[in-house]
Amino acid sequence: MRAVVYTRQSFDRTGEGAAVARQLEDCLRLAELRGWTIVEQHSDNDISAAGKKKRPGFEAVLSAIAEDRATVVIAWALDRLSRNRADELRLVELCERKAATIALVRGTDLDMSTPAGILVADVMGATARHEIKQKSDRQRRAQQQAAEQGKPAGGRRAFGYGSDGVTVNEAEARHVREAFADVMHGASLKGIARRWNDAQALTTAGNLWTHGTVRGVLKNPRYAGLRTYRGEVVGPAVWPALIDEDTFEAVRAILSVPERRTTLTTARKYLLPGLALCWKCGSDCATGHTRHGKRVYVCRANKCISRKADDVDALVEAVIVERLSRPDAGDLLATDNRDELRELQGKAAGIRQRLDDLATGLEEGVLTLAAVRKSSERLRNELRRVEVEMAATVHTDALGPLVDAQDVAAAWSALDVQQRRGAVDALMRVTLLKPETGRRDFDPASVRIDWRAP
Ligand SMILES: [Zn+2]
Repeated sequence: MRAVVYTRQSFDRTGEGAAVARQLEDCLRLAELRGWTIVEQHSDNDISAAGKKKRPGFEAVLSAIAEDRATVVIAWALDRLSRNRADELRLVELCERKAATIALVRGTDLDMSTPAGILVADVMGATARHEIKQKSDRQRRAQQQAAEQGKPAGGRRAFGYGSDGVTVNEAEARHVREAFADVMHGASLKGIARRWNDAQALTTAGNLWTHGTVRGVLKNPRYAGLRTYRGEVVGPAVWPALIDEDTFEAVRAILSVPERRTTLTTARKYLLPGLALCWKCGSDCATGHTRHGKRVYVCRANKCISRKADDVDALVEAVIVERLSRPDAGDLLATDNRDELRELQGKAAGIRQRLDDLATGLEEGVLTLAAVRKSSERLRNELRRVEVEMAATVHTDALGPLVDAQDVAAAWSALDVQQRRGAVDALMRVTLLKPETGRRDFDPASVRIDWRAP
C-alpha cells in the first residue's frame, strides 16, 4: 500500500514528539513494520506560522488521498495530524469516502475499509461537528453580547480610530468631521476622496479613497457613536462619536436621495445652470456654447434668452461676496433649522415604519401582494419627498462658513462649484432679463437678484 507521511512542528507541553525528526523516524518505522511504501512526505511548522495560516503540508496530504496517490496517512498522533476540529473533520470524511487508512504511531489505526474503522471515524466526525457548532454558537453569542455592550467588533481598524476601535486617531478624525460638514454644504464624494488622497490619508487597508469608500465612511453609524450588529444599529457604542447623530442622519439622507446623488457624485462645472431663471417664461437656464465658443446660459424650455455666462457668474459672485462682507450678514442665515430637520426625520421614520408594517402584513398573510404594492408605492413617493426636503434644509448650512469668514472673498474662492451653488441657492433667486436692444457690453442691470428671506 502507498502511504503519505505527515509531521508537524508545534508547541508541545510534554516535550514528547515535539521534534519533527523524532516524529518522522517513528512514522518511517511504522511503515516498514506494516510493509507500506512511502510515496510522499509532508510537513508543517506551526511555530513559525502561528495563527490562522493555511498549512500547505496538511493540504498536500489531503490531495494525495483525494487524487489516489496514497491510501494510507501515517502520523505520529491524531493531535499532530489535525490542528483543529475542522481539519480533523475534513480528513476523516475524505478518508471515509476514499476507504483510506489513518495510521498513528501513538493510537489505533482508523481503517476506513472496515466497519469498525468507519464506526470510529463516524464518532470522531460527529464529535468534531458538535464541537465546531458549539464553538460557532459560542462565538455568535459572544459577538452579540459584545454588540449589545457597544464594544468594537474587531476586524480591520476603522478610519479615524486606533486599532482598539475606541481611541480616536485625531489626524484621521479631523478628515472625517470635515467630510461630514462638507457633504452638508454640498461637496461631492469624489472631491472628498481626492482631498484625502492628496493629504496622504489613505484607507486603513492602505488604498486610495474612491467616492464609494468615502460613501461607506459617511454612512457608517460608528461615527455617530452607534454600534451595529448584522447591519442594524443596536445601541450606543463605547467609543466616542466623531459627529452628532443629527449630522449623521442629515448626511445619510442627502446620500440616499437619488436626485441629489447624481449632482453630488458628478459635481456640476458651472455656477448657475438649473438655478438661474428665464425672465420671460420662468423656466430655469441650461449652459451651452455659441458658435464662437462662448459659454452662455440659455432658457431651457423655450430658448427665450441667451446670456454670456462668464459675465453673469462674475456679477453674481461679486454680489454675494459684497453682501456677505457686510456686518449684518449673519441675518441671512436661517435661524435654526435643527427643529425642522428633526421634524422631517420623525416623518421619515414614521413612513419607514409603515413600510415595515406592510412587509410584515404580507408575510403573515394579512395583506395581499396587490394591496401592499399599491400602498408601498405611495409611501415610497412620500418618503422621497420628505428626504428631498431634508436635503434642502441642510443645504442652507452652506452659508455658515462664509458668514464667519474674516475674508469672505478668500473663503468664497476656496469653495468648489457645488458649494458655491449651494450658497447661491440658499441666498437668492437669479433671473436673467432681456438686455436693452443695441447694447453690446454687459449690463449688470440685466440680471435681477432677489434675496431670499432668511
Ligand atoms: Zn424662457
